[in-house]
Amino acid sequence: MHPSFDQDREAVTAAAQAEGVSPLIITGTSVKDSRKAQEYAALHPGKLYATAGVHPHDAKTCNAATLPALRELAAHDAVVAIGECGLDYNRDFSPRPVQREWFEKQAALAVELGMPLFLHERDAAEDFTAILRAVGVCGTLRKSYSGAKPYRLQGVTNMVVHCFTGTEAELERYLELGAYIGVTGWICDERRGQGLRSLVRRIPPDRLLLETDAPFLLPRDLKKIAPGEKSRSGRNEPRFLRHIARVIAQCQEKDEEQLARETRENTRRFFGIGEAGT
Ligand SMILES: [Zn+2]
Repeated sequence: MHPSFDQDREAVTAAAQAEGVSPLIITGTSVKDSRKAQEYAALHPGKLYATAGVHPHDAKTCNAATLPALRELAAHDAVVAIGECGLDYNRDFSPRPVQREWFEKQAALAVELGMPLFLHERDAAEDFTAILRAVGVCGTLRKSYSGAKPYRLQGVTNMVVHCFTGTEAELERYLELGAYIGVTGWICDERRGQGLRSLVRRIPPDRLLLETDAPFLLPRDLKKIAPGEKSRSGRNEPRFLRHIARVIAQCQEKDEEQLARETRENTRRFFGIGEAGT
């Protein structure tokens, strides 16, 4: 729901769909934006879904009305996860104790509602893990990986550490906790993404989720690999997910179509989105 899409949001989603990137999940980062995302997604049932949450940057805006608002949003059909929420000690746009308070409350809400958690973590792995453990998110997820059981077992919450850019130790820790790992076009940056390019080989096929983080993180190599593909504005778009899949497949030395199938299935299982888009 970023303003950079205000002029052509319908065209952007149609272009993604034409590339096979559908349905789309819109990330909510504040109560206001989560509401916008829910309302917009509700107009496109089966094609668009939304998350409801408050980003750590916005934690300082939370108040007594925040949790009731998220709870109300979460009851809508189009809302498939709580988040984006978490901790960001890299930017520190909200005071750390405030970030911790509202992360814990949102994580607890996800556990209570049995909904997946869409998580953001930067330079805060220790506190982040401690909070997940405190609310009881961790350590119960493996049961849901068999595929034979529904993913929403009582008291079990799926979680994804979105836009993972961390260290090998952090990756191991999150996998151990049962988290899915979200990878963006960060991996397409030959300089910044170098660590991730080798680490991505260590993510089990059933734990990987792909994302663009649009309008942010336009893959840096897009121009080189696909001239004419690059968005003139420098804006990242959902349709570029295919390019991210291609780069990850190269890093993992696996077939691109196979990766696409696996991550699509992971996404549906994680968010509880049916094959028919229900
Ligand atoms: Zn984030």
